[in-house]
Amino acid sequence: MELKGIKLAAANGKRTIVKVGKVNVGAGFTVIAGPCSVEGEEQVVETAIAVKNAGADMLRGGAFKPRTSPYAFQGLGFKGLKLLAKAKEVTGLPIVTEVLDTRDVSWVCEYADVLQIGARNMQNFALLKEVGKTDKPVLLKRGMQSTIEEWINCAEYILNEGNMNVILCERGIRTFETFTRNTLDLSAVVAARQLTHLPVITDPTHGTGKIELIEGMSLASVACGADGLMVEVHVKPKDAMSDKEQAMTPERFSAMMAKIRPLIGHMERLNKGENQ
Ligand code: PEP
Ligand code: MN
Repeated sequence: MELKGIKLAAANGKRTIVKVGKVNVGAGFTVIAGPCSVEGEEQVVETAIAVKNAGADMLRGGAFKPRTSPYAFQGLGFKGLKLLAKAKEVTGLPIVTEVLDTRDVSWVCEYADVLQIGARNMQNFALLKEVGKTDKPVLLKRGMQSTIEEWINCAEYILNEGNMNVILCERGIRTFETFTRNTLDLSAVVAARQLTHLPVITDPTHGTGKIELIEGMSLASVACGADGLMVEVHVKPKDAMSDKEQAMTPERFSAMMAKIRPLIGHMERLNKGENQ
């Protein structure tokens, strides 16, 4: 399989490993967990400790939130980044956080270990070029109305500026189905891993929007060959200032990790067998 016009991102027989501190995304299965939004010190530090204890490799948390309504909580901004730094100091977990605006890229880089480009900004070409000029790993979410080809072209924009550290993230697309918030397109994960050399992870939280569906889609992500996943975890989901209905408690996340771990081992053994 190949896509016309894709050069730097195109599959080349090797798989790119994106290094984030001690975490090698693309070598083994990477789990990113944390709150939708950073809300306060206690919330983010406690959540960070809990997800670390459950086996997460990185902490996520939004300081700048792209909300549907301008009246909804927009994130703590700079203060949120400082709190993420505190959570990193306590746990050692690298930080994944979204950047919304080209004007913020340089200073968000001082706090983020991975710059997240959200679904709504996937085709913000100015922002893609700006993060492409940095040396920070970029987590590029698929736009909810975007094709696989458009998504991979956006990765190409970042690579074309010289930043080769791109992680693709399938986060669900809009379909006619309204029971789920989005439809997590696992076929896109398999396709993107065949079309490119980049690591591909899933976001079963935004991909379903339903707490009851996250574990099943996380297990399916491991089974379909994803390089990792990102989920929302909050110490007190009921009090969350954004996406409270889809946030897992640390206990629920920990129980899910206990099921995921043996499946990761099983898939690794299967894949080794294939390569021998
Ligand atoms: C998020 O991960 O916090 C987020 C806003 O996700 P998305 O851009 O996929 O909607
Ligand atoms: Mn969210």
